[in-house]
Amino acid sequence: MLGWLASCWTYKCPRCRQTNMFKEPLDMKKPLDMHKGCSHCSLNFEPEPGFYYGAMFISYIITAFLFLAIALILVFYFKWSVNAAMAIVIIVGLLIFLKILRVSRSVYIHMLIKFDKSKV
Ligand SMILES: [Zn+2]
Repeated sequence: MLGWLASCWTYKCPRCRQTNMFKEPLDMKKPLDMHKGCSHCSLNFEPEPGFYYGAMFISYIITAFLFLAIALILVFYFKWSVNAAMAIVIIVGLLIFLKILRVSRSVYIHMLIKFDKSKV
């Protein structure tokens, strides 16, 4: 059985942690394509229209702290120039953009829907 973080990271259903929330493999044209609900515990993955607006804040928090940490480490520990550090931050941002999009949605629904042992 997965823990909370592992469940968020792998986009499992927050209630039963058995099935995937997102359609796999990743379709670059529709990166946020989700299943309607959980086939195991029948949890609706989009309880109301616009449910995932709150995930924008999760995404913002993750990216802000991650990029700030990378920039600070490069500038103050490795003595890089600010421009070089910004270039690395932009490259890292482009590489992990889709992962952060999906993880922030996953974290958001995991925060609002509790794990239920009886549904496993
Ligand atoms: Zn489920």
